[in-house]
Amino acid sequence: MTGDRPCHRCGTDSVVAVLRLPHTWTNAAGDPVPVIREVHLCAHCDAGDIARLTRALLPWLDRARPPEPDERAWQADVDAWHRGDL
Ligand SMILES: [Zn+2]
Repeated sequence: MTGDRPCHRCGTDSVVAVLRLPHTWTNAAGDPVPVIREVHLCAHCDAGDIARLTRALLPWLDRARPPEPDERAWQADVDAWHRGDL
């Protein structure tokens, strides 16, 4: 499975995916604190529970955005191409 850690519910090494979802906590001062919340999907505990997977993925899909292009890497490739190194 993922090999990172055992399932926190059943203790087996059956975690097939760890979803890292953006989440916001409120600290003691009442300020929002952006955090990453982990949801473990376990082949043993979540077998046949498509509703749990759907509940976990939908908020992530609402916020998912394609990665921003790395302009420096792009410029490095352009420079290498002009030098004949690419
Ligand atoms: Zn489990």
